[in-house]
Amino acid sequence: MSQVIDIVSLYPKDMNIYGDSGNVLTIQRRLALYGYEPRVHAYNQGCDWPEHVDMILGGGGQDTGQKKIIDDFFQRADLLRSLAADGVPMLMICGLYQLFGEYFETVDGSRLDGIGVIGAYTVGQETRMIGNLTETSADFGKIIGYENHSGQTFLRDGVQPLGTVEQDGTGNNGEDHTEGARVHNVIGTYMHGSLLPKNPAIADFLIRTAVERRYGTFDPAAAGQTDAQRAALHRIDEIADRARRVAMSRPR
Ligand code: GLN
Repeated sequence: MSQVIDIVSLYPKDMNIYGDSGNVLTIQRRLALYGYEPRVHAYNQGCDWPEHVDMILGGGGQDTGQKKIIDDFFQRADLLRSLAADGVPMLMICGLYQLFGEYFETVDGSRLDGIGVIGAYTVGQETRMIGNLTETSADFGKIIGYENHSGQTFLRDGVQPLGTVEQDGTGNNGEDHTEGARVHNVIGTYMHGSLLPKNPAIADFLIRTAVERRYGTFDPAAAGQTDAQRAALHRIDEIADRARRVAMSRPR
């Protein structure tokens, strides 16, 4: 019997820029190559919430996209908060990272309340932070991506950033050299790219956590992983490694 993993792709219609949907494809592909059966549920406004959820992936969006989803998002706030508290692994990029915080005050002065899973708040500024970015993370080593946001995010005391950046004018707010946040198994980050194809360590953290929560252990051999699948995964990792090196050498 195949072991299914249910993944929610959160608001792919309105919150999906700079290739963020590539994160969903990466999780699907890697899970399948580990021998599991990924089942992706695209959740947009007004959709039914799937019966079972092992992982949630959300992308970035324009301020207008964030405004479009906000009412529906609020109807799901309690559910998302309780899944986060239960340890469901989640990856929220940029626009949804901001909305997983406490609030986002946009550059035109409107305020969007967040759901407060991450102790952080965001304030829009005129100058956007744009460009390639490498950060250093205690949990995942070097993380490589691309940021583009007007929002400056400030973490509350004691909230763990996902990583640190060296250059002023980059990362969460351009000032304190933090980037992203990690709360329990929820990762928030400004890194587009897509993030996961170039950062398999994060993809595997999400996968391992989801599988262990649902099935007790992460055991590809017992899940039926074949030699050919193992070899394919190895090839993907080699390609990711090359892509990482190229990306790191790119100017901002
Ligand atoms: N609209 C938000 C900002 O500009 C998020 C942008 C994004 O998701 N790239 O800060």
